[in-house]
Amino acid sequence: MSKLRIALLDNSQGFFQHALRSAIDAEMVDREWKYAILFMVQAIELALKEALVRAHPLLVFEDVDKRGRTVSLLKAVPRLQSTLGDRIDKKDVDAIASAARWRNDLVHHEFEGDTDHLKSGFGRLMGFYLEFCRELLGHDVAGEVEEVLRKEILEIEGYRNHLSERARLNLDREGITAPNVWECPGCGIEAFVVQGGRNQCIVCGYSERVLACDECGTITFERGFEKVYCGNHKGLDAYRLVCLDCLYRGQEDWEERNAREWYG
Ligand SMILES: [Zn+2]
Ligand SMILES: [Zn+2]
Repeated sequence: MSKLRIALLDNSQGFFQHALRSAIDAEMVDREWKYAILFMVQAIELALKEALVRAHPLLVFEDVDKRGRTVSLLKAVPRLQSTLGDRIDKKDVDAIASAARWRNDLVHHEFEGDTDHLKSGFGRLMGFYLEFCRELLGHDVAGEVEEVLRKEILEIEGYRNHLSERARLNLDREGITAPNVWECPGCGIEAFVVQGGRNQCIVCGYSERVLACDECGTITFERGFEKVYCGNHKGLDAYRLVCLDCLYRGQEDWEERNAREWYG
C-alpha cells in the first residue's frame, strides 16, 4: 500500500503544478482557466484520497469490500468527517462541494464565466488545497514549488483579497451589512447577499435558496435541510422542513410529534 500512497501525493502535487502553470497561461488566454481549475480539482481529489488511505487503506475504494473504483469527491466527504472528525469543518465541506460543482460544470456544460468568477474560483480551491495538505497531510506544497509558481500562488491570493475588499466596499455603498452578508459557498468570499430575496453572491454570481427551519427557525442554505414526513392528517401527507441539526439532535419521532400537535 505504501507505493499507492507515494503515488497519490506525488500525483496530487503534479496536478497542482499543472494547475498553476495553466493559471499563468490563463493570464493571457482566458479559456486556460478551465484547465487550471480542472487540474486543481484533480489535485484536491488525490489529496483527499491520500488522507483516506492514511486513515485506512481500504477507505479509498468506492466499495470497501470490492477494491474496484476509487471513491468520488463527494463520497469522500462523510468518510473524511468520520475519520478526521472536527479537523474537517463546514468550510472544507463547502470547498469540496465547490470543487465537484466546478468539475461537473466545466466537463458537462458549455463553458462560460468571466475572469473574476474563474480566477476567484480557482483561488478558493487553491487555498483549500494548500491548507489541507499543510494541516492534514503535514505537507508544505507551496514551499516545494519552483519560484515562478510560488509567485503565481501569491498573485492569486492577493487577487482574492482584492476581490474580497472590493465586495466589501460595494456592499457598504449599498448599505448591505453583516447579518445579510454570508460567506459564499461558491467562492468562499464574504459576498453572498441574503437581503430582500436576492440570495446571490456579488463576486461569483453563485445563487442558492435560503430557507428557515420549521423547528428552530435557523436560516441557512437550502442544501442544509431535510424534508421529514410527519404522517397523514385527514388524507393529506404532512412534511416539515428541518435543518440538519434538528434532524439529528432529538432523533425525534416526527409522526408522533405532529399527531401530538394536531390532537393535543
Ligand atoms: Zn461567490
Ligand atoms: Zn432547526
